[in-house]
Amino acid sequence: MQSLRDVLKKAQDSGAAIGHFNISDLVLLKAVFGAAQEVKVPVLVGLSEGEREFAGTGPIAAYVQKLREESEFPIFLNADHTHSLGKALEAAKAGFDSIVFDLSALPFDENVRQTKQAVEALKAIHPAMLVEGEIGDIGSGSEIHETSPDLSRGLSTPEEAKQFVESTGVDILAPAVGNMHGMLRSMVRGETKKRLEIERIARIKSATGAFMTLHGGSGTDDEDLRRAIAAGINIVHINTELRVAWRQGLEQGLAKHPDEVAPYKILPAAVDGVKQVVSSRLRLFSGERGVARGI
Ligand SMILES: [Zn+2]
Repeated sequence: MQSLRDVLKKAQDSGAAIGHFNISDLVLLKAVFGAAQEVKVPVLVGLSEGEREFAGTGPIAAYVQKLREESEFPIFLNADHTHSLGKALEAAKAGFDSIVFDLSALPFDENVRQTKQAVEALKAIHPAMLVEGEIGDIGSGSEIHETSPDLSRGLSTPEEAKQFVESTGVDILAPAVGNMHGMLRSMVRGETKKRLEIERIARIKSATGAFMTLHGGSGTDDEDLRRAIAAGINIVHINTELRVAWRQGLEQGLAKHPDEVAPYKILPAAVDGVKQVVSSRLRLFSGERGVARGI
């Protein structure tokens, strides 16, 4: 079985990015895994601290590992937005393939110092684990926001990105390049789209040479996503779009079966709704060449 590092390298060489989708239960996992198998491309599932609390860090890791073994399909597990070393170590011990160690809210020097310590501690437990660090400000949760935050002052520069990657030893960098967590209501309605700073992505890539993740991909203009991947983005995170599809699918499932009480008869509508979003995003991130090369 290929490692996550191999998969990222291969995707980068074919001009594709890996889709990262947040899950917090088996409905979402089933939808993401089913879509990836259909499109035949590797996939990353991620759980933030809150999502891990709900699903259980050890149990969800065991479930995904078993799924990967039985199917021989490249599905990988990421500990998304982890804010303390304790929670990071817990995920490393459970066997997560990668971790997003996110101290971007701290002053830059403190972020560098603590991320470096985390990289050393995590690699000591799980040497193949990939560690991602974050710089800049891309707003808060994967929710529906009423107003857009001012992201202009938190944008990452190539100089700080280079310094961060070299000083910490992270494998993956998450910069602030116009992206934002969550979606505005107008984005959920499809009336507006997020736009990215493509030139900034290209300059950060050439300064660092590191793998790069785009957080807050939900509601982003499709052409900007294609150009961001061509400029050096290797992983794209989608969460809010899945949450919206999950809720709509669940409501449809309940409306369609008003007297039903068996979860496995109601929940497939939620699985289908999420699966459609994941499939279309995976096709976009992989490009024609990526899909053709597949797994
Ligand atoms: Zn994120």
